[in-house]
Amino acid sequence: MTTYRTTEEVREGFEIYDERFQAMLPAGAKLLKHYTGTEWAEGPVYISNDDCLLWSDIPNDRMMRWSDAEGDSVFRQPCGYTNGHSRDRQGRLVSCEHGGRRISRTETDGTVITLVDNYQGKRLNSPNDIVVKSDGSIWFTDPPYGILSDREGHKAESEIGANYVYRLEPDSGKLDIAGDDFDMPNGLCFSPDESLLYISDTGEPGHIRVFDVADGKRLINSREFAVVRPGKPDGFRCDSDGNIFTSAWDGIQVYSPQAELLGKILVPEQRTANCCFGGPDKKRLYIAADHSMYSVVLNARGDQTP
Ligand code: MG
Repeated sequence: MTTYRTTEEVREGFEIYDERFQAMLPAGAKLLKHYTGTEWAEGPVYISNDDCLLWSDIPNDRMMRWSDAEGDSVFRQPCGYTNGHSRDRQGRLVSCEHGGRRISRTETDGTVITLVDNYQGKRLNSPNDIVVKSDGSIWFTDPPYGILSDREGHKAESEIGANYVYRLEPDSGKLDIAGDDFDMPNGLCFSPDESLLYISDTGEPGHIRVFDVADGKRLINSREFAVVRPGKPDGFRCDSDGNIFTSAWDGIQVYSPQAELLGKILVPEQRTANCCFGGPDKKRLYIAADHSMYSVVLNARGDQTP
């Protein structure tokens, strides 16, 4: 597969259904392709203190790195078939690993430690996506995609026999089930004030649900937020106004907090997987899609910290 070091402009555009999405697009907004060469790109995470993006190339068991200053490089290989990533409040990278069937954390000295790899003695399936709440708790989904075959991990039977959403207190190691009625729980993201948690299900029916967060730690009042087509909503992030930027197979779809589809950022790949905000002002939306990594600079500002 060819690797292009040079950023190139993509001619595909935007579908604008609402003036609120129009307002998110600076004049001359364009999608930029920064890298091609992954087999299945996922898990983009922006590293603010290094002004770079890290993301996963799951079947090749590697993490990639890209920055404006230095272009692309392999950040870590092997990497335990990582999928989703986030950073905790201290800026440490926390990662979902299909291969290790664990949540790992990369310490400031570069060592990688296990935060959790089992629930009540049974191995996790293959953690998929992850967010960190302001209280330090780590929330992640655990569908079996990484153990269904050897392509994205190691083929194995599920020990737990169910696909849960978990809440982890990393200091004590306390792990609780936060959601137990999903087919294939996948992407997740808090609203800016953390009163809501959005979680996608990429099994049936292929939608995003939203929950109220009670007492800062329990999910209540489940309701359907949006059915996302074509494809499924694999991963998503909020901007500071609470709009949802979710993947679908045709690119990134932007929903208002009231679940109105405001517009689309069309991505010329078969399946767009995930996105995150980055750049010094958090206005650049990075997009991981199939073989490539893209970005578009918006007027919208990401809600991610740090
Ligand atoms: Mg995912």
